[in-house]
Amino acid sequence: MKDIRKIAVFTSGGDAPGMNAAIRAVVRNGIANGLSVVGIKKGYQGMIDKDFVDLYSTSVSNIIQRGGTILKTARCEEFHDAEGRRKAYEHLVSNHIDAIVAIGGDGTFTGAHIFMQEYPDISIVGIPGTIDNDLVGTDYTIGFDTAVNTVIDAVDKLRDTAASHDRLFFVEVMGRDSGMIALHSGIAVGAEAILIPETVTYVDQLIRQLERGWLRNKSSCIIIVAEGDDTGGATQIAERVKMKFSNYDTRVSVLGHIQRGGNPSANDRLLATRLGYEAVEALAKGKEGVMVGLEHEKIKYTPFALAIKDKAKLNLNLVKIAEILAM
Ligand code: ATP
Repeated sequence: MKDIRKIAVFTSGGDAPGMNAAIRAVVRNGIANGLSVVGIKKGYQGMIDKDFVDLYSTSVSNIIQRGGTILKTARCEEFHDAEGRRKAYEHLVSNHIDAIVAIGGDGTFTGAHIFMQEYPDISIVGIPGTIDNDLVGTDYTIGFDTAVNTVIDAVDKLRDTAASHDRLFFVEVMGRDSGMIALHSGIAVGAEAILIPETVTYVDQLIRQLERGWLRNKSSCIIIVAEGDDTGGATQIAERVKMKFSNYDTRVSVLGHIQRGGNPSANDRLLATRLGYEAVEALAKGKEGVMVGLEHEKIKYTPFALAIKDKAKLNLNLVKIAEILAM
């Protein structure tokens, strides 16, 4: 087993609420294990730029409740090249870093997987930190629960104004490749329809459904649209519907980046804390090249190669429930 004395932690890819709680747990459990802990700023970019900061127990005080990431995050093109990764490796070695905890999504783990194949002397363990909830090997990713709650909060407000004006709202939520946020938030707000990339959207069918609602004196309609839906997003589908069915005053609301921000929910703080703690435990046990997740309340280690190959599947039962209850 490798002798690990100094570990680094970084956040990478899109920021997600709960990343700070994960950093805090990594730092404090690292120290509890007798390790030195270093933070790398801006993900892989910080490795290449040698942007390292020593972290102590007090460095992570008062952050568990804060959104974003104190270590900052970035998307780093240079790390895609072998030369960029070589620079990163040299800086890690010159700083005596033996192991890394990488907090991010599938892109981050792809980078970690490639890096570990080239430089196996540095162990990497991953923590799923992304609002998308699109990773296998964990029931939830850190940030998803908060993002869903943010959408719910916004849509509840839109519903009040929609009901007062007989309005039809198309609300676009994040999810370029995944309908997870749309499906979970759509069910929780009682959306009349949920349009997601995983299923084909039939516009005529949607219009018939809206007509039925109108005939039953429905005072408002909320359609949740994942940004990656095959119709092209909320603005496009709203235009197509308006041309054929104009009984409601139709409006579009694109929620955008508010879905990334905000204080993490209780679930995200707990998940992040548990996974941060367990990532250090995993390194102490000699594990590497794995993502640490939580499935059915059990810690699960998923090799990076698997975590980046498959994408978490939508629960089709939830799709069915949403369709039946929306009628
Ligand atoms: P999110 O799910 O929030 O988008 P992510 O981790 O998937 O998070 P990406 O931007 O896809 O976010 O990836 C983060 C970083 O990982 C990239 O900016 C890049 O530095 C590194 N990375 C991704 N893919 C590769 C790759 N094939 N080779 C090397 N590095 C990579």
